[in-house]
Amino acid sequence: MPGNQRACETNDTVVDERQKVAGRCCECGAVYSAWVLSDSTVQPIGKKDGCRCGASTFEAISQ
Ligand SMILES: [Zn+2]
Repeated sequence: MPGNQRACETNDTVVDERQKVAGRCCECGAVYSAWVLSDSTVQPIGKKDGCRCGASTFEAISQ
């Protein structure tokens, strides 16, 4: 008797703030999964310090 199937309501409404893209380092060309923030900043996911080359400027790659 399946009586506990009301787990469908997750946080799907919080999606419009940022967009997931591929972000490429402007210095060395390394590509990371990244967020595009509301001010168009491209921020690599899980890379708070920026690229491994030390740069912190990225551009979004449109496919
Ligand atoms: Zn780099």
